[in-house]
Amino acid sequence: MRAMRLATAGGPLEQVELPVPEPGPGQVLVRVGACGVCRTDLHIVDGELAHPRLPLVPGHEVVGTVAHVRDGSRFAVGDRVGVSWLAWTCGSCDYCRSGRENLCDRARFTGYDVDGGYAEYMVADERYCFPLPAGMDDVSFAPLLCAGLIGWRALVAAGDAARLGVYGFGAAAHIVTQVARWQGRRVFAFTRPGDADAQRFAAELGAEWAGGSDAAPPEALDAALIFAPVGALVPAALRVVTKGGTVVCAGIHMSEIPAFPYEILWGERTLRSVANLTRRDGEELLRLAPTIPLRTTTVAYPLARAGDALAALRAGRITGAAVLIP
Ligand SMILES: [Zn+2]
Ligand SMILES: [Zn+2]
Repeated sequence: MRAMRLATAGGPLEQVELPVPEPGPGQVLVRVGACGVCRTDLHIVDGELAHPRLPLVPGHEVVGTVAHVRDGSRFAVGDRVGVSWLAWTCGSCDYCRSGRENLCDRARFTGYDVDGGYAEYMVADERYCFPLPAGMDDVSFAPLLCAGLIGWRALVAAGDAARLGVYGFGAAAHIVTQVARWQGRRVFAFTRPGDADAQRFAAELGAEWAGGSDAAPPEALDAALIFAPVGALVPAALRVVTKGGTVVCAGIHMSEIPAFPYEILWGERTLRSVANLTRRDGEELLRLAPTIPLRTTTVAYPLARAGDALAALRAGRITGAAVLIP
C-alpha cells in the first residue's frame, strides 16, 4: 500500500510502499476513504510534540470501510467506520475508571503512538472505532473526527455560555460554530487581524460578529474557545469574557502565554484546557451531526500531496479543513 511517512521529527513526509497491515486481536483493517489533516499533524511533523513514534504514518481523522475482521468482531466487512485520535486506553487507571479516559497516562493516540490514516489502509482497535451514520460522504465526514470532537469537548467545557467567542477560525471553529448556533448561542469570531476571508466565512456560518483577534467585540462574552496555537490569545480572551466567564484552550500545543495582570483573571473567571477526547464525546457529536445537520467545508488533496496540505495549513490558507484522499 501507499503511505505518507515521517522518518524524523521536523519532516518532511515521504511517500513509501508498505505491506498492508495485519489486524491483531481486537483490531479491524480499515481501507481509508478519507483522512482529515489536523493542526496536531502539523505539530507532530514540525517536531513540536515530544514523543511521536518514528517512523510514523500520521493521520487521526479517518473515515473508511472495514476491509477485514477477525472472528467475533462487532463489525462486518464493508461497514463504514471513523477512527479518531484516541487509539487505546488502559481501562484500569483512576482516569479511565472515572469517565476521563482522555487523560489516561497510558493512552495511545492514532497517528502519534500508532500508525494512522495517511495511507491506503490502517489497523485500529475496534473498541475505539465509531460506526458512522449515513448521509455524509467520506471527505465531508473526516474533519468531524478530530476538529469536530475537540470542538465539541471545548464547547461542553464552556458550560451554558450564551455569548461565545471563538479564536482561530479553522477546521474546529467552523464546526463548533454550527453546533453553537443550533444550540441557540451567539457566536463572535476572532481571526488573524485583517483576514477578511476568514471573517466572511465565519459570518456565513452564523457568527454575528467577526473581527481580528486584536479587536474588541461589541459586548462582553460569557466564554471563549481558543483553537489557534497562540499563547498571546489567552490574556486577549480573558479581557473580553465577563465575570464568571470561562476561557478554554483547545489545542494540544501553544506558544508561551505572556504574563498578564491578575485582575483579568479575577472575578471568578476560569482558564482551562481540554485534552484529547473520550469515546462518549464521539458518540454525542456523531449522533448530533445528521440532526443539526453539520456541513463541513473541505479542501481535498490526493494522499501524495500531504506535504502541500500541511504547508497550506501552516500558512493559514485552508478555508475549513484539508482532507487527504488515498
Ligand atoms: Zn487508563
Ligand atoms: Zn486532531
